[in-house]
Amino acid sequence: MGKSLAFFEGKIIPVEDAKVGIMTHALHYGTGVFEGIRGNWNQEKNSIIVFRLREHYDRMNRGCKILNIELPYSTDDLIDITTELIQKCGYKEDIYIRPLAYKSEEKVANLKLHELASDFALMIVPFGNYIDNEKSIKCQTSSWRRPDDSMMPTGVKLSGLYTTSILAKTEAIMAGFDEAILLNHDGSVSEGSGENLFMVIDNEIITPAETENCLLGITRDCVFEIAKNDMNLNVSSRKIHRSEIYLSDEIFLTGTAAHITSVGSLDNRKIGNNDVGPITKELQSIYFKAVRGNNDKYQKWCTEVSI
Ligand code: PMP
Repeated sequence: MGKSLAFFEGKIIPVEDAKVGIMTHALHYGTGVFEGIRGNWNQEKNSIIVFRLREHYDRMNRGCKILNIELPYSTDDLIDITTELIQKCGYKEDIYIRPLAYKSEEKVANLKLHELASDFALMIVPFGNYIDNEKSIKCQTSSWRRPDDSMMPTGVKLSGLYTTSILAKTEAIMAGFDEAILLNHDGSVSEGSGENLFMVIDNEIITPAETENCLLGITRDCVFEIAKNDMNLNVSSRKIHRSEIYLSDEIFLTGTAAHITSVGSLDNRKIGNNDVGPITKELQSIYFKAVRGNNDKYQKWCTEVSI
């Protein structure tokens, strides 16, 4: 149970009343920046645990800077608006929180960001599993390439950038796979359609470097920290060749929606023993406690909103 509400044009209103006009700039040109944040229901605490809320708004603000979007809200205001909306919606289940900062001006055929008005909207939907994390998934190397940062900024969640992810995910699903892995224009590995990628070789965890056009993922950052603090393992980041991932012991994907998901096969080649590998499993168990507010060490990542 819960109410479908949105923060729209400065007010909390029923989501069905939160409507933009057909001339809205962002609808035509993808001139928006969004975030995907999870709120996880904790029955004992009667609370929603919002995971890494501030870091998500920090990333959104970096995207706003690039798109010349100036919002009348500070990060603290955005956090307060989010907390209030979660309480007013009142969901007692896992939720997905979608902030969107966008060029709201109802004007087409104007490509000058600095002339266009911006706005901020926030929506919340109940959200269970995005991918089944209990098992390993089947991935396909996409025929679509991850855009290079010189074509479109890739480290932040620009709406327009997602056309590539959507083409890749659709292609993979229609071919019978669960997820797509995108390469860069030079053939090195970038990331999944909505997840960062990690490989494990001889107990070493390796992920594409920040210069490999991947999103600067918040779950990716959690893996760096958990591996170091709890498993005494260093994560290195560098350029990864396609053939290296075929030959790795484990591959896993990370993302707010996907959590930490094991990859059992890539292009129909088995990875490791086709099952969730031991390092992936350990990371998952620590991470799943943290996201629900049940890991004392990582309370710093949690914003508790009582319902
Ligand atoms: N890459 C892409 C393209 C994504 O959409 C996401 C999901 N936000 C990620 C990686 C993972 O980022 P995060 O862990 O911050 O959700």
